[in-house]
Amino acid sequence: MPDFLPALIGCFAQPVAENPTVVMMEAAFRHHGIHARYINMEVSPADLAAAVAGAKAQGYIGFNCSLPHKVAIISHLDALGDSARITGAVNCAIRQPDGLWRGENTDGKGFLQSLRTTTNPAGQHAVIFGAGGAARAIATELALAGTSRITLVNRSPAPAAALAQLLSTNTDTTVSTAALTDPFPLPPDASLIVNATSVGLFPDSSAALAVTGFRPHMTVADVIPNPPQTAFLKAAQSAGCHTLDGLGMLVNQGALNISYWFGIDPDRAIMRAALSSVFPAA
Ligand code: NDP
Repeated sequence: MPDFLPALIGCFAQPVAENPTVVMMEAAFRHHGIHARYINMEVSPADLAAAVAGAKAQGYIGFNCSLPHKVAIISHLDALGDSARITGAVNCAIRQPDGLWRGENTDGKGFLQSLRTTTNPAGQHAVIFGAGGAARAIATELALAGTSRITLVNRSPAPAAALAQLLSTNTDTTVSTAALTDPFPLPPDASLIVNATSVGLFPDSSAALAVTGFRPHMTVADVIPNPPQTAFLKAAQSAGCHTLDGLGMLVNQGALNISYWFGIDPDRAIMRAALSSVFPAA
């Protein structure tokens, strides 16, 4: 008898129509023969509680949360993984065998997986531009991975100061903040440079933070998945730096979500190809 009941997963966000995660998730499901559907759901903050109750009642095995729900979702979950607890943000909820719901933050973990293909962040000095959700997730994972020093550079001082306080309280990493100047001179001893702002995201693809001092020993990463080749990364490449794009981070966090939900390590090349097919060429 055929099984007409797929495992259900989805994403709560607002707006959600342009969220392409569904494309890489369903490509992975097809490739691995997983009987599941991933559904984008437009949910307002006022409707989040009802949406979560609905998902639980309908037997969802998990869901992603994107803006604006990554913080508010926590009050609807039973337990949190380490980085979700420290950052106070969840992008992946998992129904556990005992029926309780655990929240994880896989944004930073996805970044770390990309980074580890190139270098071990332990003992390094990282400069992170931004202090929003992506920066919080990345800074937390880098600190947990033993990065010795993090410099947070943000346009608005208050979120950077709050993140520095959070990291200093919860980790052993030395954290400082710096004002975003135009251009910003990179400290010569920094070896990891991360753009975790939204600067460079399609359609403003030609925009880039102005920095000086890219050096060949630096690994330079960008969170922007679309386009993958940002102006920031191109500037770093011309200075001889090794670069990591945001598409890799996006694919890795999606793959981690699948491993939490289904217990398999999906084929990232299939997921990346699916995503690339819906993004305009860089
Ligand atoms: P937030 O809105 O939480 O934070 C945005 C950050 O960008 C803030 O630090 C903000 O500074 C800064 N910023 C925005 N505009 C400018 C500007 N013109 N000049 C300087 N700084 C600016 O967003 P998120 O952190 O959630 O997302 C940031 C980016 O990361 C998005 O583009 C998103 O697509 C990407 N992302 C990628 C993921 C991936 O897997 N590749 C995962 C998650 C996010 P200020 O505080 O001063 O406003």
